[in-house]
Amino acid sequence: MSHKIETTCVQGGYTPGNGEPRQIPIYQSTTWKYATSEDMGKLFDLEASGYFYTRLQNPTNDCVAAKICQLEGGTAAMLTSSGQAASFFSVFNIASCGDHVVASSALYGGTYNLFAVTMKRMGIDFTFVSPDCSDEELNAAFQENTKAVFGETIANPALRVLDIERFANAAHAHGVPLIIDNTFATPVNCRPIEWGADIVTHSTTKYMDGHGAAVGGCIVDSGKFDWMAHADKFPGLCTPDDSYHGITYAEKFGKEGAFITKCTAQLMRDFGSIQSPQNAFYLNLGLESLHVRMPRHCENGLAMAKFLKNHPKISFVTYPSLEGDPDYALAQKYLPNGSCGVVSFGFVGGRKAAETFMKNLRLIAIETHVADARSCCLHPANATHRQMNDAELYAAGIAPDLVRLSCGIENAEDLIADVKQALEQI
Ligand SMILES: *Cc1c(COP(=O)(O)O)cnc(C)c1O
Repeated sequence: MSHKIETTCVQGGYTPGNGEPRQIPIYQSTTWKYATSEDMGKLFDLEASGYFYTRLQNPTNDCVAAKICQLEGGTAAMLTSSGQAASFFSVFNIASCGDHVVASSALYGGTYNLFAVTMKRMGIDFTFVSPDCSDEELNAAFQENTKAVFGETIANPALRVLDIERFANAAHAHGVPLIIDNTFATPVNCRPIEWGADIVTHSTTKYMDGHGAAVGGCIVDSGKFDWMAHADKFPGLCTPDDSYHGITYAEKFGKEGAFITKCTAQLMRDFGSIQSPQNAFYLNLGLESLHVRMPRHCENGLAMAKFLKNHPKISFVTYPSLEGDPDYALAQKYLPNGSCGVVSFGFVGGRKAAETFMKNLRLIAIETHVADARSCCLHPANATHRQMNDAELYAAGIAPDLVRLSCGIENAEDLIADVKQALEQI
């Protein structure tokens, strides 16, 4: 039965039977016991579903993945050890050496490095397009060997909003799926599958966990992409897998289950990037209040953006839900209830002013983390992008004075007061 998103956040994914634990049990076991080798053999042939080894699957994880699956409106989902693992698996499940992927250039730095450096070394080529490129430029990025399109609902840290519908249409016109990293919006604020996305990924480390407690990731399949209709492009899903006695995923598990089953049976088996069941338990505690926390993050983010916009020492503010932002119209379309708690801005006094500001924050902590209940702040030029000179920073779309502030769920007046007093020190 389908419920509203608030109910699914609290109760989705796990319904205990009579006399069973109310909370999702932590299956702290690497392995499962079977009566006969034949029973176990059926699992290894993917003929029966069940558990045998936590490197591939664990029931705690599957309950939490099922909740996120319901939240996103998908048909199958899996947890991964991190957001990075989710991004890697989502692409590597359908692209291999000699293939090509189109990606938005407004990406999380770790994802950009994964694609442009590490996966490039594995023989997969990426073409990066600006999220506001023309339809002609977008279509021109596709090649014969293109296997997917990848983008972020709200890019971290650029805070650009992707026109998901437009990118989905382009992907589908070229017979490939659209993969969306929905980390910053969360399904509370945007459900990319409703706009045409085929696969959704998350760094659950951010808002979903929400308390800075557990690194994790998730992949959700919409069950909508017809792999068999493009069988020549996706041999991994549409031709027999010898390592499982010649089953063909797209035939045996259908559109609804093929992607996640293959990803579990092959990639999780071989790479073992699974989330620990203990972390999945923490993640679920975070999910239980996601729908209560997100509106407060957005409320605080908007209040902070409005305060900064009118401050004489601030040179620019980027926040998609702020009127006048270049992506305001896209945010109104895709994120009508709010975008996220992250605001970025620069200083009239340049890099020096940014450094003075950071030094004087009292309540807001300096961290590389974002999207947490506690407010935190980062000056990329002095942290994640420290190796770059000013010219390189501008080329990467990050001004030397840019500061990224992640508004938590504290009182907005207290947060603004801290920012105000730090600005006074400049
Ligand atoms: C943090 C982040 C990631 C990477 O996630 P980890 O859990 O840190 O591996 C991927 N995408 C986005 C948008 C992120 O913010």
